[in-house]
Amino acid sequence: MSLSIPLLTEYEKEHISERQPLPERYIGLTDAEMDRRIAAARATLGRRLVILGHHYQRNEVIKFADHVGDSYKLAQQVSQHPAADFIVFCGVHFMAESADVLSADHQQVILPDLAAGCSMADMADPDQLQMCWNELEQMGVITSTPERGRASVVPVTYINSAASIKAFCGERGGVVCTSSNAGATLKWAWERGEKILFLPDQHLGRNTAYKIGVPLDQMVVWDPNEIWGGLEPGAVKEARIILWKGHCSVHARFTVRQIENMRAQHPGLRVIVHPEVPWEVVQAADDSGSTEYIINQVKASPQGSIWAVGTEVHLVDRLAEQVAPGRTVLSLDQFGCLCSTMFRVSPNHLLWILEGLVAGEVHNRIEVPADRKYWTKVSLDRMLSIS
Ligand code: SF4
Repeated sequence: MSLSIPLLTEYEKEHISERQPLPERYIGLTDAEMDRRIAAARATLGRRLVILGHHYQRNEVIKFADHVGDSYKLAQQVSQHPAADFIVFCGVHFMAESADVLSADHQQVILPDLAAGCSMADMADPDQLQMCWNELEQMGVITSTPERGRASVVPVTYINSAASIKAFCGERGGVVCTSSNAGATLKWAWERGEKILFLPDQHLGRNTAYKIGVPLDQMVVWDPNEIWGGLEPGAVKEARIILWKGHCSVHARFTVRQIENMRAQHPGLRVIVHPEVPWEVVQAADDSGSTEYIINQVKASPQGSIWAVGTEVHLVDRLAEQVAPGRTVLSLDQFGCLCSTMFRVSPNHLLWILEGLVAGEVHNRIEVPADRKYWTKVSLDRMLSIS
């Protein structure tokens, strides 16, 4: 496993002043002591607490989660625990924001380390999105007199985006998607509009649209740092989907060369990748899908199967060690691709948060501002209605 030195994301730079440092008394504890104290705090809090854990979390944290899943599955869990006063989200910031929006009024959502952001989510800034929308209007792509009563552009944002981006989409007839329901969501959006503006992950947008039959020449990439996205109005008018120029810095590391090398070393190997990887990598793989899909495919494969998996290394290692016995599961990247922001949530942080709750102190609460909540919820509810 490669441990890259975490750099500050835009989110971290913005929120660094709010971040409460881990108290020194929580540093240097043994694993055994942390396990014992976390278990004790969980037992004391009982049904007042639910811990949600994303697949990319480390084992020392995920073993305490009440529910483990991808963004879609965890978002579904939020409304299933009305007795819980505290939802501790072991994941990254945008996930905790979504949980706050979907939670009941009496519930508080907590992110154990506020520095757990997402570099992809940072690539879509609300001002840039407003500018993009204005420029699409200037180009005549968005019109006030849509044809056949359909919208000219339906905005679709991946759940890996800030609440402000989700609210923008919800208010304009758009929706949030996850990698689990991205194909169904694109079909949903095309039933309601001529074109889709998909953000922030160009790879998920391209891979999903291609998989459901849209050719590459009907897609354009909008660069938010260029005037008019760096595109000619004619090209945008011809396109069926406008892809925001964003990506996941973890999944963008997977390459076709890695697949070729793995196939040469392991005859009979099957390659499965997450759709956040580049298009050519999906084409060179045998299959692609969300983390839940990857888990299900590997688990359903015959004993003795050999897999190379292109997604975050903690999920790959867990598949190999716990989830799919009798199969050989390898990371497509020989060094393992680690999400350094997911890695920020440590058992030390979890212990600090839980012992704080036992003592009546809430640290690192995530609250989406009231003026953003309504439309964010609309877009998330639409997401949950599409499977
Ligand atoms: S794996 Fe990529 S998209 Fe997921 S949280 Fe990490 S940086 Fe964001």
